[in-house]
Amino acid sequence: MTDLTADAQAPAQPGRNPAAPGGARTVASAVTPTLVARLAAGVTAAGEPVPVHTVAPLTGERLATLPQSTPADVELAYELARRAQHGWAALPLRRRAAVLLRFHDLLLQRQDEVLDLIQAETGKARLHAFEEVLGAALAARHYGRAARKYLRDRRRGGAVPVLTHTVEARRPKGVIGQISPWNYPLELSVGDALPAFVAGNAVVNKPDTQTALTALWARELLVEAGLPADLWQIVIGDGPVIGPAVVEHADYVSFTGSTRTGREVAQKAAARLVGASLELGGKNALLVLADADLDKAAEGAVRACFSSAGQLCISVERLFVHRSVADEFLARFAARTGALRLGGGLAYGADMGSLVSDRQLEVVTQHVEEAVKAGATVLAGGRARPDLGPLFFEPTILDGVTPGMAVCAEETFGPVVSVYRFDTEDEAVAAANSTSYGLNSSVWTKDPRRGRAVAARLRTGTVNVNEAYAAAYGSVASPMGGMGDSGLGRRHGAEGILRYTEAQTIASQRLLPIGPSLGMDDERFAALFTTGLRAMKAFRLK
Ligand code: NAD
Repeated sequence: MTDLTADAQAPAQPGRNPAAPGGARTVASAVTPTLVARLAAGVTAAGEPVPVHTVAPLTGERLATLPQSTPADVELAYELARRAQHGWAALPLRRRAAVLLRFHDLLLQRQDEVLDLIQAETGKARLHAFEEVLGAALAARHYGRAARKYLRDRRRGGAVPVLTHTVEARRPKGVIGQISPWNYPLELSVGDALPAFVAGNAVVNKPDTQTALTALWARELLVEAGLPADLWQIVIGDGPVIGPAVVEHADYVSFTGSTRTGREVAQKAAARLVGASLELGGKNALLVLADADLDKAAEGAVRACFSSAGQLCISVERLFVHRSVADEFLARFAARTGALRLGGGLAYGADMGSLVSDRQLEVVTQHVEEAVKAGATVLAGGRARPDLGPLFFEPTILDGVTPGMAVCAEETFGPVVSVYRFDTEDEAVAAANSTSYGLNSSVWTKDPRRGRAVAARLRTGTVNVNEAYAAAYGSVASPMGGMGDSGLGRRHGAEGILRYTEAQTIASQRLLPIGPSLGMDDERFAALFTTGLRAMKAFRLK
């Protein structure tokens, strides 16, 4: 196997950023106090808010000082949002959809601004930050164009044919409480809010404090695209302090984060009898079948395991490879992994950035060190890289991982993958499914039909055949989400927008009532309806 050398995983030479013709920029020059102050003005926090500081993961330097919202501010945010929602819901759908379509165009034009912010707040490589622009743009275009199809009134078969005219309509829920994590701050704030807006709702969003600037920037851009400013409220503060208040006032809760917090949020929503969608953690598997194209599979596995330094809910942490091709595949996978360029420049060029926080670095280090101590072998990576920045950790492949090790079943949420060999597809499917999570998986084979057959047996909300995760995630017309401990409900597709609506059935009765009439007694009415039901069956009307 390829050992990491001084050359491999060297810092990337930052490419020139087209948005900064003057040369490479630093986090400090891109995220200026003026920009922070402008964005911070978008936080709903009245009075004398207690400030909170964030740190740039790439450098460890202070990044921003932001006002913190209190539970009373959350209440105020709901009041403002609720007021704005009535007028917004009354607009024709095409006017609401036009805002999303304009947002798409503005986002593509102004992407460099938000790429800087995402990199500064998360430490991820620019390419991985761009994935967020892509995801948000796809969602904007899809829901901007398809909302009419999803939300239109639908004629349904009435209680009594001809006499009952029945329409199913969709009404906005009202104000959506949206709680988002730090790992995909653009995609998981605005991407999930867009279908809520076009369906006629307002949103009170609590992003993670670490990545609040990105959400605030997206809000500013959406307002520029025509969204009424009060319709999207952003509150900032500790999850356990203001998170419960966000759930307390919501007409529906859209939560993305860990399974542990998701359970708490779900219980609070259930107690109030409001619905919730929960996008939670994963321990995703990638299967390399015996007939896979090994180069493509190795390249795909790198994307699957190390995008955003593995801090991606749908990234792969368990890799199952057919024994007959295991040595050859692992040699190629380890070589590619060892050659990845780590770097923290605000420009394209690095293949992987850093982790986001001390806590993330601690868990990743712990999982790797514990596994190695208990007998696992490192095929690539395995070390923190403080020489590159405070939170860099090498992309790491572990072999010989056994069930007693934390890395085997727990979500690491970092650039660490364990490899396992299998002899039969049944064995691979059973092993991949042997987790309480069920978010995403990836299957590699030269035979797409076979890939789809294996996919159908995997218990995950999305499966990618011959791609890591982006094929399914990017298919925004189709639902995405988790089975089992990975969540409840779906984003994207019809479910991704209908979750933000209430179904309403309007049935108008004409000519005859559904009950005894015209002097008919109860018995005759029952006999008439019995005959009617038989006739409807005979004519296949019911
Ligand atoms: P987290 O659960 O710690 O935090 C998520 C959000 O919840 C944050 O905004 C946080 O402040 C808030 N929060 C914390 N405690 C709360 C409480 N008691 N009440 C209400 N809100 C509270 O998760 P994280 O560490 O920020 O994110 C990483 C996790 O998110 C991973 O498990 C990852 O797999 C998951 N994730 C899932 C998806 C998906 O689509 N399934 C996407 C991204 C991340």
